Amino acid sequence: MAHDGIIYLDHSATSWPKPPEVVDAVVDALTRAGGNPHRGAHSLALAASRLILESRSSVAELLGVRDPRDVIFVPGCTYGLNLALKGVLRRGDRVVVSSVEHNAVTRPLARLAGSGVKVVTVDADSAGLVDADDVEAAVMSGATTAVVCQHASNVTGAIQPVGDLADIAHAAGAVLIVDGAQATGHMKLDLEALGADIYVASGHKGLLGPQGVGVLYIKPGLEVRELIQGGSGGQSENPAMPVERPDRYEAGTLPTPAIAGLGAAARLLAVEQERLIDEEQRLVRLLMEGLSKIPGLRILGPSLGVERAPVVSVVHDRIAADRIAYELDAKYKIAVRAGLHCAPWAHRTTDTLLTGAVRFGIGRGVSASDIDQALHAMSEICS
Ligand code: PMP
Repeated sequence: MAHDGIIYLDHSATSWPKPPEVVDAVVDALTRAGGNPHRGAHSLALAASRLILESRSSVAELLGVRDPRDVIFVPGCTYGLNLALKGVLRRGDRVVVSSVEHNAVTRPLARLAGSGVKVVTVDADSAGLVDADDVEAAVMSGATTAVVCQHASNVTGAIQPVGDLADIAHAAGAVLIVDGAQATGHMKLDLEALGADIYVASGHKGLLGPQGVGVLYIKPGLEVRELIQGGSGGQSENPAMPVERPDRYEAGTLPTPAIAGLGAAARLLAVEQERLIDEEQRLVRLLMEGLSKIPGLRILGPSLGVERAPVVSVVHDRIAADRIAYELDAKYKIAVRAGLHCAPWAHRTTDTLLTGAVRFGIGRGVSASDIDQALHAMSEICS
């Protein structure tokens, strides 16, 4: 379906258009519930607090988290990953990480490496898939505090064996930290069954919420230091942050409109998600089949038929990725993203560090006709 005449295939960057339920919830938070949540007892503040509570419960239910207090609202996935990595790792610790991580993981790790954390990288294969046996070998070759891996790649769409990685990490007394930015919303998730100790997600991608909020799940009982300190609305006489969740990790005024929108999105996904995932997977197959027939194109990531997140990236042997993206936009009003996608490690693994790639991100609202039009445009541009 085209919106405002645009065929939007950049869902891996952010989902668009946001469902009307999400837009309505944002407006409601800005108007009817415009007070500061958890601060004050007047009706506008209480209405805001209630929206936060409801959203936390809706997100927890969608993600299979029994106690909503284990769901922490953070400004975004990048913030949540920083909190997780810096809150778990200390000087002298060793961390095992895959070779396909996003800069939201690799840059905080580079900073931590500069302050005495040993970072051990495990190479994924050329399709971007991580082999659990390789991770196990790396974990067993030294005392390991944490294993860090994405659930799905924003470049190749590859889905990593995070359940196996949880078992491997736990057998070695380590914790598993998962970057779920590209999996959440696009896969049915039960975080407690999955076994990740920490799972971080963007609110604005597959979860269909507004920008400005992300989700951080921390397994009950796991001690993780908070990243920032400040007002929590309660226990103000205490010089330290409260130890209770989620307050410990949510210093400062929360982005109520974004959180309310995310809650509405979670309730919508609870109803729609199964159908949506089926549709996304059908469109991914359609797109991959079509792209594979265009001479000169190489599709990155797992081959057709292997489950992947709804992300399909391609490189052409002659035409630059940014040229293709520019033409798709300028001539066909098709929105995609070209470049390194903040993930140079993944591009090194797929041998596209010098070229980058054109990425098609599929999500809610994309139709088979959109894919047909994108394929038609690609065959004209690449001819
Ligand atoms: N990890 C991955 C795999 C991502 O694709 C992204 C977003 N591009 C992030 C982390 C960071 O998410 P955000 O920009 O929402 O903080």
